[in-house]
Amino acid sequence: MSGSIGNWRVELIEAHRDLFAPPCDAALAAQGAPECGPGWHDLLNRLCVRIRKATRAEGTFKFNQIREKYGTLRVYWGGRLSQEATVQVEEAIALAEARSATCCEVCGEPGRLRGGTWLTTRCAAHAAGQAPIEVKPGLENIYIVGYVADDRTQISCRRYDRDTDTFTEVDPASLLVEE
Ligand SMILES: [Zn+2]
Repeated sequence: MSGSIGNWRVELIEAHRDLFAPPCDAALAAQGAPECGPGWHDLLNRLCVRIRKATRAEGTFKFNQIREKYGTLRVYWGGRLSQEATVQVEEAIALAEARSATCCEVCGEPGRLRGGTWLTTRCAAHAAGQAPIEVKPGLENIYIVGYVADDRTQISCRRYDRDTDTFTEVDPASLLVEE
């Protein structure tokens, strides 16, 4: 491993400087400097690569905030992009947020959302006694996502797949659990 674990934020910001707004050379003072654990470095790096591909250096994009909230990732951004690029950026963010619910925030190994006094996403080794939040079988990693297409807000129901890091559309009717 290169560098100390505290440097992962600097590494991420230096690697994707165009997406952050570092004043002077103080990378950690950059707007959008991640406020989360090192286990999410990899998924944030994937996110940055996807955003750069989506924006193709056209328009403007800056992270406003990257943080952990209720155990998973939240990403806020500002700027001005074409509608096509905006859709792709929002898709990349949705993937990263979904992935964060499957990655231990401490080490990056497969993790689960855990409850207690507060919510965290942790692997068994870093659970610190927190029990996993129970999800009905078949409803794991299901997301309802709103998006704009043809100038209308549409809703899609998707399942996040950790192995392929993609969403697949799911028929909501198939999720109805028989009592
Ligand atoms: Zn862990």
